[in-house]
Amino acid sequence: MRNETARHDITVVGGGLAGVCAAIAAARLGRTVALINNRPVLGGNSSSEVRVWVCGATGHGRNHHAREGGIMGELLVENQYRNPDGNPYYWDAVILDAVRAEPGITLYLNTDVREVEAEGPDDERRIISATGWMMGSERRIRFESPVFLDCTGDGLIGHLAGAHHRIGREARSEFEEAWAPESADGITLGSTLLFYTKDAGHPVKFVPPDFAKDISTTSIPQRRIIKAGDNGCAYWWIEFGGELDTVHDNERIRDELWSVIYGIWDHIKNSGEFDAANMTLEWVGSVPGKREYRRFLGDYVLHQGDILGQTEFADRVAFGGWSIDLHPPQGVYATASGARQLYADGIYHIPYRSLYSVNTGNLLFAGRNISASHVAFGSTRVMATCATIGQAAGTAAALCAAGEVAPRELSVPELHRVLLRQDASLIGLASTDPEDLALRATVAASSALSCPAVEDSAELWPLAADAGLVLAVDPDLTGLELLVDADRETELVIDLYDPELGQNYVPRRLVTSTTLAVAAGRRQWLKTGLDWSPDTPRNAFLVIRANDAIALHRADRATPGVLCLTRVPLRPQDESPQLLREWTDAGLLRRTFCFRAGETAAYAPAKAVDGYARPYAGPHMWVSAPLTDDPSPWLSLTWPEPVTLGRIEVVADDDVNEDLINLHHHRTPFDTLPTLLRDYRVEARSADGTWRVIARTERNRRRRQSHTPSEPVTTSAVRIVVEATNGTDSAHLVAVRAYAAGE
Ligand SMILES: Cc1cc2nc3c(=O)[nH]c(=O)nc-3n(C[C@H](O)[C@H](O)[C@H](O)COP(=O)(O)OP(=O)(O)OC[C@H]3O[C@@H](n4cnc5c(N)ncnc54)[C@H](O)[C@@H]3O)c2cc1C
Repeated sequence: MRNETARHDITVVGGGLAGVCAAIAAARLGRTVALINNRPVLGGNSSSEVRVWVCGATGHGRNHHAREGGIMGELLVENQYRNPDGNPYYWDAVILDAVRAEPGITLYLNTDVREVEAEGPDDERRIISATGWMMGSERRIRFESPVFLDCTGDGLIGHLAGAHHRIGREARSEFEEAWAPESADGITLGSTLLFYTKDAGHPVKFVPPDFAKDISTTSIPQRRIIKAGDNGCAYWWIEFGGELDTVHDNERIRDELWSVIYGIWDHIKNSGEFDAANMTLEWVGSVPGKREYRRFLGDYVLHQGDILGQTEFADRVAFGGWSIDLHPPQGVYATASGARQLYADGIYHIPYRSLYSVNTGNLLFAGRNISASHVAFGSTRVMATCATIGQAAGTAAALCAAGEVAPRELSVPELHRVLLRQDASLIGLASTDPEDLALRATVAASSALSCPAVEDSAELWPLAADAGLVLAVDPDLTGLELLVDADRETELVIDLYDPELGQNYVPRRLVTSTTLAVAAGRRQWLKTGLDWSPDTPRNAFLVIRANDAIALHRADRATPGVLCLTRVPLRPQDESPQLLREWTDAGLLRRTFCFRAGETAAYAPAKAVDGYARPYAGPHMWVSAPLTDDPSPWLSLTWPEPVTLGRIEVVADDDVNEDLINLHHHRTPFDTLPTLLRDYRVEARSADGTWRVIARTERNRRRRQSHTPSEPVTTSAVRIVVEATNGTDSAHLVAVRAYAAGE
């Protein structure tokens, strides 16, 4: 056995997606990081040991333009390329590769941290070290650093340090949360084990083990959906332990979950109710996936009102968008539905003050243990959200370590500057980074999409229900026409709504309404006559009211910045009101209603240097004219005086409207996002006016590429020349950034 001491700038305990993203973020800022995980694989609940699929702000596609960016975005895009079918082991490898790509991270797998040395009175605790045992290696390792991150999910590190925290549910009155119980209690969400099945191709018998539960004596067969071919997270409802202590009773909970799994399988195989003769169990989890335990107290406690009200925190550092998703304490045995869900009107913000301890000066946290009420945790707990929180906390930790400041003292503008530069998931904040020379350049391009029009109808879309059409208005909406078929003479009503918040895609404030006389006939371009000139660029949400005489035309392609939706009634069991749930892109994803619109600046070249790197009240990217008209589109940056560039970043469009997932929830039909630039070159203008290639990228499949010429380049202009995209018929460029050498 060995005793060792490991010193790093930052110690991250917990290798779930929160810890992984925190460690990568800090290492990319030049800090040395210990990333410690007590399991042999990274990924926490998303790993092949537990197999929960990674959900996030898209809410399985309900929120639009909502997929996480930053490190989580990189992981999802890479996983889509390597693992579009959602193999859990391939996902493990994507995460491990991402961690190993950072030389600043020292990874300690199989290392269980159990001891913490901390000092100071209760209101001023400080962590000195955390000590772990590396299983299988007989190494007892003491980790020392100025800053610690507790990403353990369960919050053991902070607890051992004396950090204030809670377990259970707050009383309704504490944060005026309608979804909280009348009185505070110790109830948490329970834990779950999942299983995978496969068709063996021949009959396979199943002899249940003695511990299998006879589920016919429970409400499970009546109250839960059981299908022979379901796998993994489709069985998220095998939940138990919400009324127990999900940590101290972990062994008991695992045994109960195993008994339920084998009981369900016995029911599938031997009840005669399922076509399952050839089915066999391929994998059964043995590490209970824990949903909830400690939640630390920070300077702010995120709560229900912040999520549903989409509070615009000045110190926002991440976003979420999953529903508030709470489960009955009795879990799998509850006769009530397995989950109660309520969505905000769009994605919401998470403040930095919820990511550091109220009383432990050098402790940050990320993941399911942040400073949020039980109800708010019901939404922030999904893993892509935990990951964006991780990137924010890791970035903050890196700045704290570099500047020798406590998390509470950290400058929020500086944190924002660095997060935006690292392409993190912040909503509605534009980069004003003084070091980004692109923000001071004059921009031009070979062409731009100026009058969006989709005329190539593939199919009719009968207006059986209200249809929604979201268009970028910059600065005006004019000249809007729709392609319609009318079976008879009729009137069509169109309402124009302001979604109010830049991240929302629901009709919130009625601006104007029009009633149009429509003659009977096919393929008519209907002039809507709608005009709107809002104070600032924003999206218009047009509600085209249901009309049984009318069908819209629908093209089989997406249009940047445009969303097409249809209204579905809420189901009786749905919480009401929930505008977001009423407006769905089912049947309309990657498709566009045929329309023509007047001139817009929404896709102008200047959008590539407006500081925004995500859609927000508009697409915020340059889109060229169709490649058929402009086969080699370019975008240039020009400075009045020559600048010396050490690095140029190209941020391509990875279509954050596309809902990617790591495992088998759904199959996205391409491996590389078609909107991404594929082949392009970066050129600098020489003194004689000719262009010189300083970087070239081929077969790109990533959103962000950093180009560092071998020597800094002094020039008065650079341009990005696009040679091919990964599928779209125009070039999309979210941002170009330019930095001096060493920045
Ligand atoms: C069954 C189930 C279904 C769910 N459904 C979804 C879903 O569909 N989609 C979704 O996105 N989310 C879902 N969630 C929620 C989500 O999985 C968690 O909220 C999320 O995993 C939290 O991420 P994390 O990084 O904070 O913690 P975790 O994923 O729990 O990772 C923490 C890591 O820290 C390690 N660790 C813990 N203690 C120590 C220690 N002392 N020393 C060293 N390492 C330690 C753990 O082994 C683990 O690897 C579900 C959860 C469960 C259990």
